[in-house]
Amino acid sequence: MKNFDFDLIVIGAGSGGVRASRMAAKTGARVAVIEANALGGTCVNIGCVPKKLFYYGAEFSHAWVEAKGYGWDIKDPQFNWQTLRDNKTKEIERLNGVYQRILENVQVKIIHGFAKVVSAHEVAVGEKIYSAERILIATGNSPHRPSFPGAEHASVSDDMFYLKEFPERAVIIGGGYIACEFAGIFSGLGAKITQLYRGELFLRNFDNDVRHHVADQMRKHLDLQFHTDVIKLERAKSGIIVHLNNEKTLETDLVLFAAGRKPNTAQLGLAEVGVKLNDNGAVIVNDYWQTSVPSIYALGDVIDRFQLTPVALAEGMAFVKTVYENKPTKLDYTLIPTAVFCDPNIGTVGLTEAQARKKYQQVKIFKSKFKPLKQTLTERNVQVLVKIVVDGESDKVLGIHMVGDSAGEIIQGFAVALTLGVTKAQFDATIGIHPTTAEEFVTLREPVTIEK
Ligand code: NDP
Repeated sequence: MKNFDFDLIVIGAGSGGVRASRMAAKTGARVAVIEANALGGTCVNIGCVPKKLFYYGAEFSHAWVEAKGYGWDIKDPQFNWQTLRDNKTKEIERLNGVYQRILENVQVKIIHGFAKVVSAHEVAVGEKIYSAERILIATGNSPHRPSFPGAEHASVSDDMFYLKEFPERAVIIGGGYIACEFAGIFSGLGAKITQLYRGELFLRNFDNDVRHHVADQMRKHLDLQFHTDVIKLERAKSGIIVHLNNEKTLETDLVLFAAGRKPNTAQLGLAEVGVKLNDNGAVIVNDYWQTSVPSIYALGDVIDRFQLTPVALAEGMAFVKTVYENKPTKLDYTLIPTAVFCDPNIGTVGLTEAQARKKYQQVKIFKSKFKPLKQTLTERNVQVLVKIVVDGESDKVLGIHMVGDSAGEIIQGFAVALTLGVTKAQFDATIGIHPTTAEEFVTLREPVTIEK
């Protein structure tokens, strides 16, 4: 066998790349990971983690209002963006160090620089060439940048984590995870937000009741405009002028373009060595993350299946089991719980009502909207939505959906039950925890509609 420098070279030290490097090294493989930016990738540096820290910062805006109803007299709280931004950055730098130690503890060699694949077994970083029996592409993805006139005045999500000044006004373009999350966070932190979505109703692929409910709730604290798109941006003295497709204009301090992400495969040299990419630039892999070049694998956001950190982690584990533990392991992508940290939160797992009706003859829907107990003493006008989708024939729970505080925390637990194939009768047999919002899921008795 050829004498390679390493058994495995991983390109990209994000969630999937670090997990795969670490687990492969633990099996005794000689591993190197190459990273051009900070260790931890999107999730740690410019995604999930700093976003959630900003989200916690924004939640205080509700706490001040709620506290009043509970007898607290809080005078004029002031928000300081620089404090939140810089405390966040310190924490992220600490995490970068944690990632470095995690890798070094299992003897993974960390190589800083931009990697280019030059053959089926070789990677170049600058002038230096490294060889490996296998190469794993885990380079993630990046925000799609707009191409309308004046697009240079728009920011993307990467920029939001290091803004010099907090905007008084912001226009957010898009109707997916990132647009909805930043709309809630920046509104909570005190900016006047306008969110624009090009279609009829945002949050495509979520349950329709969830989409309508979130729109109703968000409209209470920001300006949400559907069927609206941007055609041009212009810089003016007083801000950025946003020209819309309905001939209106808006003036704002910041424009966030949050319209999807593209796989990071440009300049990696993949097509040149025979790795097939799809039209979007994503690496095409089989069930075991192997590309069209047998020694090259790929996983995480760069394969564009589910752009979620826990999915990349699971793929990393399954890749290592398959390749280094001789246990071929596929991943079941059917039940992936997810949360959108918009305001209010969405938590969801399994099928939407529309997906269930396409697949099953008899679908039963159980749902409820209510004011949570905590808000009965406050001036906050919010409503929670809980919804269960059930197969009427087998009684199996197909999907559960929630909009409200801590929806992600609540749905994570129910995701275990759905993974185990829980039935509605088992939900009914479960004792509730009173008084909680989550108990509603085990006390919903009457279906809203029964379709035969
Ligand atoms: P999404 O795919 O979630 O949403 C993209 C949005 O942008 C859609 O509303 C889409 O509209 C709209 N859009 C696309 N192209 C254009 C365009 N040219 N002009 C105007 N609007 C456009 O992408 P995000 O960027 O929000 O997030 C990327 C991914 O990152 C998510 O899908 C998710 O997997 C992951 N993520 C997960 C988070 C979490 O787990 N909490 C948080 C943040 C991101 P349309 O529906 O009409 O196509």
